[in-house]
Amino acid sequence: MVSGTVGPMTGRERVLAALNFDPVDRTPVCNPTSVATVELMDLVDAPFPEANRDPELMARLAATGYTELGFDTIMPVFSIIQESSALGCKIQWEQKDNWPTVKMGEPIWEDVEDIQIREDFLTHQDTNCVLEAIRILKDEYGDEVVVIGKTMGPWSLGYHCFGVEPFLLMSLDDPDKTKKCLDRMKKATIDFGVAQIEAGADALTLPDHATGDLVSGEYYERYLRDLHIEFVEEIPIPLILHICGRTVDRMEFIAQTGMAAFHYDSKNEPGESMEAMKQRISLVGNINNPETLFSKGPRQVREEVVQNLESGVQLIGPECAIPLQTSIDNLKEIPRAVRDWHKEREN
Ligand SMILES: [Zn+2]
Repeated sequence: MVSGTVGPMTGRERVLAALNFDPVDRTPVCNPTSVATVELMDLVDAPFPEANRDPELMARLAATGYTELGFDTIMPVFSIIQESSALGCKIQWEQKDNWPTVKMGEPIWEDVEDIQIREDFLTHQDTNCVLEAIRILKDEYGDEVVVIGKTMGPWSLGYHCFGVEPFLLMSLDDPDKTKKCLDRMKKATIDFGVAQIEAGADALTLPDHATGDLVSGEYYERYLRDLHIEFVEEIPIPLILHICGRTVDRMEFIAQTGMAAFHYDSKNEPGESMEAMKQRISLVGNINNPETLFSKGPRQVREEVVQNLESGVQLIGPECAIPLQTSIDNLKEIPRAVRDWHKEREN
């Protein structure tokens, strides 16, 4: 990617160019996952849990990523449970200071035949909330920034609907059944993704939690690579794959999927990750959440931003959904550091 050779761009142009390996005026600042914080909720009076269920509040809180923090993207899907709720999982909605989660120990599916994508899947309150929020944001900010939606991959849906342990055990004991289950759940991923495109999303995050600490790179190849290739074919806007943890052992397979980008964790060094991707798909990340953004200061945030920029990482942002108690000051430092780095190189 070439920097500094094109005229001023809007955030929208900048992000879309970076996702497509086209030249940019500066590296975009992008959040494929949540940047909501308690401070931002207070600022615009849009607190959890309501901001996860009411489209007006969801849009208002999400917009602060652009209006307050100065990111080049707006991402309204703060949680990972919107579609699981619509599929029938029981949700613990929590309070302002905590994310909603699927209630553990109450799996809704056990067998391939149990998997039903209900008829009201896209009109259910918790999927429809996302679609409405995207419409509001597209209308208000669609010329300025990229509006990113989110559709969960079948591996993540498996954790929610079968339970994490039963799903992982099945993947060990019965690969054939596991593949059949994934294949049946993929309809939820595609349908929700396509509906968000129709609502106005410019790009989609696709989290599929085959995370470094739970499954191996070989697992990713066996169960998910081909499905992810299918998603690229079926969901026709840039997709940003999100997998937490140490993932260098599967980056080669991820790069083969044709996804636009991979949202990567700080457990992977920027340099080694760029090398693994070999310019096939872009990287987004990887400012550390639990230590740097949550408990350190702007100086350390800046150091990590610069490390990413010097390695050639195409889009800069936090590694994952940020802790809700993260300070606004630390978040604002990300776009500030990106701008300063580019300015220094011009002089
Ligand atoms: Zn994550």
